[in-house]
Order: sequence, then structure tokens, then C-alpha cells
Amino acid sequence: MAEPKKRTNSSKQGMRRMHDHTKQANIVYCESCHEPKEAHKVCYSCGNFDKKPVLEMKKEK
Ligand SMILES: [Zn+2]
Repeated sequence: MAEPKKRTNSSKQGMRRMHDHTKQANIVYCESCHEPKEAHKVCYSCGNFDKKPVLEMKKEK
């Protein structure tokens, strides 16, 4: 197997790994039920997107 000629220093290692982490989701409040949800995604508490029903929600008893 190929061997690296030089050891990667911690600075370069950090530069490489700065792209590895995931960004925190952009949280907005649903316009229909005012629950927090991810931006540009369907609200999972009321099933609406852009004030229109998209998901068929289970009826709570
Ligand atoms: Zn909602």
C-alpha cells in the first residue's frame, strides 16, 4: 500500500476536516400551526407546506 511521504500536520488536518461537520438545520416556525420546523420542508406536526396540506396526518384520539 502507498505510504504518505510526509506526516500531515494538525493545521492541515483541521483544514481538511472543517468540511466534514454537518451544518445545523435552519429552524423556522410553521405558518399554520406555529410549531418549529426545518425551513423549506414539510411541517411534521400539521403536515402542511406553504399553508397547504401535503401530508395526511394520523388523527389523534
Ligand atoms: Zn405546522
